[in-house]
Amino acid sequence: MTAKLIDGTAIAKKVREQAAADVTEMVAQGYASPGLATVLVGENPASEVYVGMKQRMCKQLGMESFSYTLPTDSSQEEVEALVRKLNADLKVNGILVQLPLPKHLDDEAVLRTISVEKDVDGFHPINMGRLAQKGREPLFVPCTPDGCIYLLDEVGVELRGANAVVLGRSNIVGMPAALLLVKRDATVTICHSRTKNLSEVCRQADVLIAAVGQIEMVKKDWVKPGAAVIDVGTHRIEDATKEKGYYLTGDVAFDEVKEVAGWISPSPGGVGPMTIAMLMRNTVRAAKIANGLIKV
Ligand code: NDP
Repeated sequence: MTAKLIDGTAIAKKVREQAAADVTEMVAQGYASPGLATVLVGENPASEVYVGMKQRMCKQLGMESFSYTLPTDSSQEEVEALVRKLNADLKVNGILVQLPLPKHLDDEAVLRTISVEKDVDGFHPINMGRLAQKGREPLFVPCTPDGCIYLLDEVGVELRGANAVVLGRSNIVGMPAALLLVKRDATVTICHSRTKNLSEVCRQADVLIAAVGQIEMVKKDWVKPGAAVIDVGTHRIEDATKEKGYYLTGDVAFDEVKEVAGWISPSPGGVGPMTIAMLMRNTVRAAKIANGLIKV
């Protein structure tokens, strides 16, 4: 079997186009264009790249982008004071604190400071708690796992009653992905570094989401024939034979897994572009909530 490709690049483009259309419509109705504030603490090169991408994407879609950079040695109080200032700023609809923060800072306390209505990353404990509760809905869902589910929906993978396995239990990917799958009536197994017989557990999955941060760990014999496989992993491998001096790969051994899976999202070109597209969508949603266009 050769898996059908889940083209995250194309699907993300549609999500962004919808966000841009929503922005145009809001502005035509006399509302301010949605605004996203990014908070970067310190000089992490990867974080600088991610924040830059998010700012550029806002501008491309007609949204406002407000950039705040604090020095590495900023105190907890200084970071939280900035977040509180942004909470009160009517031009700011979404606040994104780029993680990881420098080690001396308590990221959980910073995330808790973000207004729930502006928590476009969906990491506030109230939004995460609502995600975990039956009959409750978060205002925002974390972008990467939301993107995973969107990809599965877009290609028509049935989640209700499916055996789903999530590899990884992080707050930003694995755990919210598992909670979303439960909300969609899948039967979910969450795997982590202490899970026994990992390959065997994964082989039971109709839907497998890999978010372990281990290079190409998921092999062909870990995958049930016909399963839908979503690769969240992102790894940059130095390789002098490549034009750029490196190549990108994921948590799934794509070339062999595509021979057994029914659907596969590659990395790069799968979840990556979805994450930023879902952030744009969440920011538009935050602006609609702020303007009373969506009742929550
Ligand atoms: P974390 O390191 O926070 O979490 C990794 C999870 O995988 C943990 O739950 C850990 O278990 C588990 N794990 C690690 N090694 C093993 C192993 N050998 N066997 C079984 N389980 C293991 O990573 P993230 O969730 O932040 O990210 C996961 C991957 O997704 C990374 O490659 C990251 O770059 C990528 N990513 C991609 C994004 C995108 O937009 N495309 C966004 C965010 C992340 P335990 O809990 O026991 O430690």
